[in-house]
Amino acid sequence: MSRDVQCQLCPKRCVIPPGMAGDCRVRMNLDGKLTAVTYGHPVAVHVDPMEKKPLFHFLPGSPVFSVATTGCNLHCTHCQNWEISQAAPHEVPAYDLPPDEVVRLAQAKGCEAIAYTYTEPIVFYEYTYDTSAAARAAGLRNVLVTAGYINPGPFRRLCKVTDAAIIDLKAMSDAHYRQTCGATLAPVLDTLRIAVEEGVWVEVLNLIIPTLNDDPRLIEALVRFVREELGPQVPLHFTGFHPDYQLRNLPPTPTETLLRARQVGLEAGLEQVFVGNRRGGAAESSWCPGCGALLIERVGFRVLQRRLRVGEDGAGSCPDCGRAIAGVWA
Ligand code: SF4
Repeated sequence: MSRDVQCQLCPKRCVIPPGMAGDCRVRMNLDGKLTAVTYGHPVAVHVDPMEKKPLFHFLPGSPVFSVATTGCNLHCTHCQNWEISQAAPHEVPAYDLPPDEVVRLAQAKGCEAIAYTYTEPIVFYEYTYDTSAAARAAGLRNVLVTAGYINPGPFRRLCKVTDAAIIDLKAMSDAHYRQTCGATLAPVLDTLRIAVEEGVWVEVLNLIIPTLNDDPRLIEALVRFVREELGPQVPLHFTGFHPDYQLRNLPPTPTETLLRARQVGLEAGLEQVFVGNRRGGAAESSWCPGCGALLIERVGFRVLQRRLRVGEDGAGSCPDCGRAIAGVWA
């Protein structure tokens, strides 16, 4: 007779009865064995600009092969990909694409990296891990686009095959995580600390939602966390909310709110703070924190101009004052 199994992957630690799935809907108890049923079956496969992830200081301007299966261990009321993130595997048509095939396609499309993205790569952990290992062996790099809700053990293991991560920090408020996302704050902070410690290139994303997490004290606390616990060189993206899914009663984030948050970050000593999902003018580009010179000019997901100097060792620096600019450039 089959028995319950417990998933130890994320802090929810679901106890799953036979034939049922955990809270993310994709990790199932099949005959007493915990099985990630979306393994090898992505529902979204695209080539994106790296800037769309958004990663601004990691291989700027390069195409990144992007895959996602269904499922997520968060349930954000404002999710923009809810048709696939909140769906059960049988509800969305999927491709049959084993890890080696993902790598082959990425190479055929001229991509230097593969992104695990759109939904939550943590819940399709084994597929993410195996594809990342195969990509590494083929000389490609790996990018995680994640909300970071995972236990430390499996995350450290995944970091060994991950080159860059854009990690969503939804607010420095446990209440916000519980009420808006069905999760908690502390594990996400641990994930951010671990990613930096493990040498993954990290950028942080904060989606500002009017009335829910736009309190200036929350923005200040978030900026302080990034500066003091991750480092001033870690880029921070403030992005604008669009009404979607279950949260259609709130207005889009005013551009001024995003620009004000950016100013708070810069005044606190963060070196790179960006505005996203809005035309942000200068706030979409990278500037030298030393002399203020333009380093990389962007509009939306497009790189218009690249003045950054990259040495033979791959290190970036300002072409005007020579200051080192953190990032993965080559
Ligand atoms: S990954 Fe899914 S099944 Fe596992 S503990 Fe988290 S929500 Fe539950």
